[in-house]
Amino acid sequence: MINVKYDSTYESACLKCPYCGQENGDAWEIEFDDGQIEIECDCGKKFWGSESRIINYEGQADCELNGGKHDLEPTGNEGQFKCKICGQYIHKKLP
Ligand SMILES: [Zn+2]
Ligand SMILES: [Zn+2]
Repeated sequence: MINVKYDSTYESACLKCPYCGQENGDAWEIEFDDGQIEIECDCGKKFWGSESRIINYEGQADCELNGGKHDLEPTGNEGQFKCKICGQYIHKKLP
């Protein structure tokens, strides 16, 4: 499953040079290996770059996980239903 929240922070992340403020748009291509790596900016200065990731946790209720059944209602999108009890979105292929 793709974590959308993670992707959006990834995309907007930029690495800024502490000397000139230039943003390194390719920061996401850098392998930081959970440490600091030396970056050389176009301005000629070197600085340490590191990466921190925002971790999002989410608790998702699930009727079936607890031995119950979803109470589904159509969301308006074709083949998509939402459970009124646990709020989970379900995709069903119509025959
Ligand atoms: Zn710079
Ligand atoms: Zn449910």
